[in-house]
Amino acid sequence: MIHEILPVGPLQCNCSIIGDESTREAMVIDPGDDIEDVLAVIAEHQLKVKQIIITHAHIDHVGGAMKLRAATGAPILLNQNDYALLKMLDMQAAWVGMASPGKVDIDHSVKQADIIKAGSLTASVIETPGHTEGSICLYFPAENKLIAGDTLFAGSIGRTDLPGGSFDKIIRSLHEKLLALRDETVVIPGHGPVTTIGVERESNPFLK
Ligand SMILES: [Zn+2]
Repeated sequence: MIHEILPVGPLQCNCSIIGDESTREAMVIDPGDDIEDVLAVIAEHQLKVKQIIITHAHIDHVGGAMKLRAATGAPILLNQNDYALLKMLDMQAAWVGMASPGKVDIDHSVKQADIIKAGSLTASVIETPGHTEGSICLYFPAENKLIAGDTLFAGSIGRTDLPGGSFDKIIRSLHEKLLALRDETVVIPGHGPVTTIGVERESNPFLK
């Protein structure tokens, strides 16, 4: 598996570029900004992007999706419970002092247990409402990797004070869905350093 993690934009969202080494098919998760840099990584590895997956509809995760779709032709996937938030991108842009990316069109909604493929790579969708109503994580069982969006961070969890957020729901998502994964599972959060389920189970103050 090719896996490059590129922090993009002013909020340094971790954009993941994941590719199959033999077929060169790839998926890009959370192309929030800096699409020229994302495309440079794609070109460097000679990848063909098949899927663009958005973990949730915050501007720092979805802002560059249309540019990436225009450059690659790949569809944009998001859980439908975040479609309402997606309509508020102009407002979100004003909150964080960014330029609005304009309208983002979603090609398909993805839901719990959906399988997303690129070449031989397989990820399953885990719905983890809480940070936003439509937040999802992507789990790669063969590689034992979790792309966590803003649900779980090293030593912390996603904020729940923005529209659509719920502290009770994020705690339930973490306990019922993410802590059900094995300790060795490598976690790539939406921001900041990589961690594991085991380390977070042991030391994350929100998971005690
Ligand atoms: Zn977020």
